[in-house]
Amino acid sequence: MRIGVLGGTFDPVHNGHVEVAGEARVSLNLDTVLFVPARQPWMKSDRPITPVEHRVEMVRLAISDYPFFCISMVDVERAGPTYTVDTITQLKRQFGSGSEFFVILGWDSLLDFPQWEEASRLVTMCRLVTAPRPGYQPPDLEALESRVPGLAGRVILLEKPEVDVSATEIRRRVARGLSIHGLVPEAVEMYIREHGVYATAM
Ligand code: ATP
Repeated sequence: MRIGVLGGTFDPVHNGHVEVAGEARVSLNLDTVLFVPARQPWMKSDRPITPVEHRVEMVRLAISDYPFFCISMVDVERAGPTYTVDTITQLKRQFGSGSEFFVILGWDSLLDFPQWEEASRLVTMCRLVTAPRPGYQPPDLEALESRVPGLAGRVILLEKPEVDVSATEIRRRVARGLSIHGLVPEAVEMYIREHGVYATAM
C-alpha cells in the first residue's frame, strides 16, 4: 500500500489541507491519505491550542465526502509531544512492512524539518511530499541536505495546488466576525459556528 500521511494541528482543518491531500493522492497514486491530528504540537507551544475533540471532529467532517481520506488517531492517543518519527514507526507497525509512507507537508513545514525529532532517521523511513505554500519560497534542497544528509533524495516536489489559506487566518476571521465561507469545507464552517469555536481566538 502507498499511504500518504498529512499530520497537522488542524486548528481548524481547511481547504488548503484538503486540496494538498487530494493533489498528493492523485499525482503519487496513493491508496489513501491519513489525516493525523496532533495531540500536542511541539512546534506550536507558543499559543493555546483548541481542545483536541473539536479539532478531531472538524477533520472527520472535512473528509467525510472523500473515500480515499481517513483519519488516524495515533497521535491523539499517544501521550507526550507529537513527533512524526513516532507516528511513522507506529503506522508501519499497524500497516505492515509492505507499506510505503509519504509524509505530506507544505513548504513552510519543510523549512522546519531539520529541527524535527530524529530527522535523519525519519527520512530513511518515508518520502517527504512537499506542496507549494503561498508566501513561502520553494525549498532550497541543497541547504536542507547539508543539515539532514539524505533528505534531498527523499523529497518529492508537487507543483500544485497553491491555496492561500491558513488556520491562523481562519481563527482571526472568526474572532472578528468575518466570513470563512470557501476557506473551509461547509460542514466545518457550520461546526465552528454552532460550537462557537474561535469566537475569542487571536
Ligand atoms: P497555522 O496557521 O495555525 O500555523 P496551518 O494552516 O499551517 O496552521 P497545520 O495544521 O499546521 O495548518 O498544517 C498541517 C500541514 O499542512 C503542514 O505541513 C502545513 O505546511 C500544511 N499546510 C497547511 N496549509 C497549507 C496550504 N494552504 N498549502 C500547503 N500546505 C499547507
